[in-house]
Amino acid sequence: MLGGGQLGRMSLMAGRAMGYQCVVFEPAADCCAAAVADDWIQADYGDTLALQRFAERVDVVTCEFENVPASALDTLQAAGCAVAPGPHVFATCQNRRREKTFLRDNGFPCAPFVIADSAEGLSQAIERVGTPCVVKTTAFGYDGKGQCKLSERPEAVASLFAEMGSQELVVEAWVAFTAEASVIVARNWQDNLSTFPVCENRHRNHILHQTLVPAQLPEDLTQQAQKLATELACAIDCVGLLTVEFFVTTAGELLVNELAPRPHNSGHYSLDVGATSQFEQHIRAVCGLPLGATTNHQAAVMLNLLGDLWADGEPDWPDVLAAPQSHLHLYGKHPPKPGRKMGHVTSLAETRDQALERSEAIWQTLTH
Ligand code: AMP
Repeated sequence: MLGGGQLGRMSLMAGRAMGYQCVVFEPAADCCAAAVADDWIQADYGDTLALQRFAERVDVVTCEFENVPASALDTLQAAGCAVAPGPHVFATCQNRRREKTFLRDNGFPCAPFVIADSAEGLSQAIERVGTPCVVKTTAFGYDGKGQCKLSERPEAVASLFAEMGSQELVVEAWVAFTAEASVIVARNWQDNLSTFPVCENRHRNHILHQTLVPAQLPEDLTQQAQKLATELACAIDCVGLLTVEFFVTTAGELLVNELAPRPHNSGHYSLDVGATSQFEQHIRAVCGLPLGATTNHQAAVMLNLLGDLWADGEPDWPDVLAAPQSHLHLYGKHPPKPGRKMGHVTSLAETRDQALERSEAIWQTLTH
């Protein structure tokens, strides 16, 4: 596993449950996946010798984040490891220009956009796209970082270009949406595919706050979202999980916002609904095993626990655990910091409204 955050940790927990020996490669000292791995190689992604040592230990390499340098994946592949998803998938997903161009060129619906790599280009791009629009850096953006909404044409485009780091930008039309949704699809080496139910995602301060499953969407949009996700996994030739984030527009259409070739925060509920979890599915897919069933018979709401909740010390977990049909997951991260994803709670119920009520009650307990 390249990357030692919570997505790596939960994937490796699934891998170990299946009997695999797991090695994590992560440069940062605060590696919460290391506690559940058989071994941890702490080195930079540019350290070729460390990558070679890693390659000698493992047969299959996968990643828990999309900004892994392509050179590291190439090195591991050249050393004989099966790398899934492949380096070409990361090359596309880690850069918004390549990602959006891929979507447009392959006929997948997405918001209109124009690329700019100079102040003058930015001015022209804003002119062409119109306002309101969003300006995003093409590299290394996540959770709303590296982006800026423009309600109207700015007076000083040159200073905006400088503020955004004088780098390549994508100017994207503002999408009027009623909901944000995501679909996680798994594809194994044998080209078998399986989708998880459509999730509805609610954000606070650009960070995922709650995921509701099932999403409240008309049946035709639900089917379309799953079909698009499946077609995307094939078009981009992704082995492993691919998460497709969508906008559901006010006009009742789906637009693809982003792709993530890995387990996703919106899929955490799958640990508790009794079907195959996204983490187990990821391990099955990258190891060339049959994919598991993903139909769950309960509604679920996943609530993210950010470090902000630790402002007055450790939250009162017994109160959370006493809530009906609620499951607490903590990632063993230290220290808690504002905005840092420390854990999540999944609330289950017969219906989505009941699950939401349970989740809201936990949120009240934690914040009052
Ligand atoms: P991103 O990092 O591109 O996923 O954007 C983070 C969040 O910003 C999204 O989840 C949306 O809530 C919002 N956002 C991004 N792009 C747009 C857009 N073109 N129109 C409206 N909202 C957007």
